[in-house]
Amino acid sequence: MTRSNPFALPGVWLKANLHTHTTVSDGDASPAVRVQQYRDAGYQVLAITDHHEVVPTGDLARPGMVLLQSLEAHPSCPNGPLYHLVCLNVPVGFHCENEESAQNLVDRVRAAGGEVILAHPYWCGRTIAQIRALDPLLALEVYNSTCRGIGKADSTVVWDYVLATGLMLPAVGVDDVHRSDDLFGSWTMIRAREATAEAVMEALRAGAFYASCGPEILDFGYANGAYFLRCSPVAEICFVGRGAQGRSFRGCHGELLHEAQWSASPTLPYLRAMVTDSAGRRAWTQPLPPVPGGKTR
Ligand SMILES: [Zn+2]
Ligand SMILES: [Zn+2]
Repeated sequence: MTRSNPFALPGVWLKANLHTHTTVSDGDASPAVRVQQYRDAGYQVLAITDHHEVVPTGDLARPGMVLLQSLEAHPSCPNGPLYHLVCLNVPVGFHCENEESAQNLVDRVRAAGGEVILAHPYWCGRTIAQIRALDPLLALEVYNSTCRGIGKADSTVVWDYVLATGLMLPAVGVDDVHRSDDLFGSWTMIRAREATAEAVMEALRAGAFYASCGPEILDFGYANGAYFLRCSPVAEICFVGRGAQGRSFRGCHGELLHEAQWSASPTLPYLRAMVTDSAGRRAWTQPLPPVPGGKTR
């Protein structure tokens, strides 16, 4: 897939939760209540992803809220626990067959017009080989609010190990909400040309999004011999590459930062940025591949 820099694209920012359970599976609120909860909290995109079953979104439509008809499926993994795959934008009635292979499911989802996100890899104990076995994935979940329950919400290290293999897989932040405790802990900011399901899927396929648990990222790229980032005030800005490559910046005497630059070669195998605010909440950009000509815009 061709990646776009979301910070250089025209359009609108849409706040999304791409992993949501309701009373149709094991959530504690009806689909209509979930839509209202996220709409009231200022989200513009919601994917209802109940286990095994696609909830029709037609009757749930509300002004200002884009709904993606979706499900969470659990196909087999030959050398590990069942996969948890969020299947976005699939038709009502779409389901995972018994004992279906994960790759077969990925192929069927895409043939039906959808895309697949690898859910909570740290919580699953997913190996890098098991992640790389699926092609193509839209993204993996770098943060999953529900997985805080066992201390495994943050899959950043798993993501870095995947990126180190050369697979430039983007990442999303999600709630995977089951109970009200899980609401609004992490989200995905999508840069779409307009607030429609079609434009949201187009933006997701282009990698035009970033993940956050709080901070806002305003710009990220490479220019004039340096990687750069601008963001809402944070305690730390990290540029993270493969292995020992990278640099972190912290303000002196607790001063907050809103930008950083790191002079480095544009030929690093990948470079992503991650910021942490004073409450410990993170946001993550997508990885930049090596920058041809040393300029991202
Ligand atoms: Zn799951
Ligand atoms: Zn789930």
